[in-house]
Amino acid sequence: MYSLIDTHAHLSDLEDLKAALRHALDAGVYAIVAVSANMDTNARTLRIAERHRRFIYPALGLHPTEIGAEYQDVLTFIEERIERCIAVGEVGLDFWRRRGEPAKSEEEKQRQIYVYTKQLEIARRHGKPALIHGRGAWETAYSLAESIGISKAIFHWYTGPCDGKQDLFSLSEDLSIGEVTDIFIA
Ligand SMILES: [Zn+2]
Repeated sequence: MYSLIDTHAHLSDLEDLKAALRHALDAGVYAIVAVSANMDTNARTLRIAERHRRFIYPALGLHPTEIGAEYQDVLTFIEERIERCIAVGEVGLDFWRRRGEPAKSEEEKQRQIYVYTKQLEIARRHGKPALIHGRGAWETAYSLAESIGISKAIFHWYTGPCDGKQDLFSLSEDLSIGEVTDIFIA
């Protein structure tokens, strides 16, 4: 049996959490990093982790596609509770243009960059790794993480070229790169 750590699971979104955790245990998963995306899932992730100590490790974050008018409140919520967490996440940038949708406006991109930067600063201040979503924006996501001084990161939804991974690996030996799906290779 393999011993696995799932480094990116949206447990707060699952309808049957108990069954999913049972499947994970049966498959040899011995730890799960539970990521969050907004105020609601941040609170739920913390509650889930409370109930499953030493199995589920919470990460708090505001996802780039979940930024609303109350983002400052979410950032405050995250920083006030980050010491209970194993990482800051899921954070990042999403400049992807979905089929049938207009391109992201410059204003939207700047807002994402602001919120992402604030969360990278939280990660750095508290010495936590960052779990980074970089869909359609991996170069900016990477260079901001590097310039802010993030030394540990996991890239998720990496959409850059394969040879770009050399640069990503130079960020830290602790960094790893996920596939462009939620299935993660750590
Ligand atoms: Zn995710």
